[in-house]
Amino acid sequence: MNLATSARPLPAQDLRPSRPASATRALAELDGRQAGLLLSLQDPASLHAEMLTALMISNSLLELSRLASARLSLLEFARATLTTIAQCAPLDACALVFTAPDIPPVQCVSGDWPSPTGDLSNLSFDAADVAWSPVFGTDRDNAIGYLGVRGAPAAIIDAGLVVRASEQVSSMLGMLIEAERLRRAAASARAMELVSALGDEFGESELHEIVSTIQTLPGAEAATILLEIPRFGGPMIVEAGEVNSDAPHTERIDSIERSAAMTLRVWWTGGSPPTDTRLDDIAERLKASIGRAEQTAALRSEVETDELTRIGNRRRGSRALAQASARARRAGEEYAVFMMDLDKFKSVNDEFGHEAGDEVLRLFAQAIEAVVRGYDVPARWGGEEFLLVCPGTGRDGAQALARRLLEKTPVMCSAALPPDRLQTVSIGIAVCENPTVDPMALLRQADQAMYSAKTTGRNRFVLADPGIAAPGR
Ligand code: GH3
Ligand code: MG
Ligand code: MG
Repeated sequence: MNLATSARPLPAQDLRPSRPASATRALAELDGRQAGLLLSLQDPASLHAEMLTALMISNSLLELSRLASARLSLLEFARATLTTIAQCAPLDACALVFTAPDIPPVQCVSGDWPSPTGDLSNLSFDAADVAWSPVFGTDRDNAIGYLGVRGAPAAIIDAGLVVRASEQVSSMLGMLIEAERLRRAAASARAMELVSALGDEFGESELHEIVSTIQTLPGAEAATILLEIPRFGGPMIVEAGEVNSDAPHTERIDSIERSAAMTLRVWWTGGSPPTDTRLDDIAERLKASIGRAEQTAALRSEVETDELTRIGNRRRGSRALAQASARARRAGEEYAVFMMDLDKFKSVNDEFGHEAGDEVLRLFAQAIEAVVRGYDVPARWGGEEFLLVCPGTGRDGAQALARRLLEKTPVMCSAALPPDRLQTVSIGIAVCENPTVDPMALLRQADQAMYSAKTTGRNRFVLADPGIAAPGR
């Protein structure tokens, strides 16, 4: 018998790690109370067997009825049901499977079930030691499924454990399915809200929230968003639910301006989206938001690029400084600020011409880019002065970087100068170890340190004394 619809089966869930807290509390109480009763039930000669069986069944029904008020999702409800039954009765395993239109099939097993892979789409109803009983929702929700118990003593089965438990589950199913549908219907509105409000600086976490919401649209089981956007530095894929790329799914591929592209894939219960799903609207809005973010990013990068060297300009440097400071406050991390000034640069212009000077500036920018990490931000602060902001960098890291810069500069700049003329640089560094320090104060310290480097011989770095980093000193 094939219980599942045409949908791909969900893997079976292990019950133990995710048991809801309310069920855990109830079960802990039960464990103590029932241990003795269960033991005597194992003994068929026990005089109390009949009474104990009745007691045990009514106990499990009582515990099951408590789940109705626990505000569980369908899957959580199925898990809690099986846990409750398994804790109340001596048995090897139990399973609960059901389907309802527009909702992913619920397939849950606990204990030692014959199908350890968890694929319940072709359940064997013939196994001698499994007792099955159907579960139903209401006429409206058309839910249908089965509760199965394996390896329970015949006395318990004969006394109606499975039949009565399945009736109990049936009586709650309609309400739970209705709640699940409402939750899923709300997901459309929520997804629209999220994609419309997507900020220009969105990243993986924002996309993850969107894809998780899409996964709970009516009828959806799993979803992925693949974004190819130059500023991400490579394709980014975020997913929610049990993604099986081989299973049938709907796919939307959109190209967004400036060589960006978005691919949205959704897997549906029953293979196709229900008619009321607003996925196209959501995708359209998401595409528009990403396009807008890309445009803003492109504009900003143009406005913040230095024409001569093509690294950031003063505006970019200021923004990097503010960002590093905000990040330091948020995450309590250090950052370093470098102020760098080419040595005796006026004489380069005087001796070799302005063109050669311009080329030295370009080469120096390349030297910085060659030695920094991807998230360090170099910027031309003005003339032959450069700023470098290095998030997450402490004193040791900053000094190591300064040494690399001192080494790289003459090598790189030699391409524009005669062999006997070495271009050097003087570097002042301020490291922010106290996030409350004003970034502008840090910049002044780096500047002062740079002048110390000049006055003490050039072609060197000076690290500002952290003592003067405290505010107001
Ligand atoms: P010091 O070692 O003390 O820094 O000496 P310096 O000669 O580098 O100092 P100064 O600040 O006097 O000279 C900076 C020179 O940088 C003056 C200016 O002509 C030159 N400069 C500023 N911007 C540009 C530019 O865009 N292109 C070129 N070629 N030169 C520039
Ligand atoms: Mg200067
Ligand atoms: Mg100079």
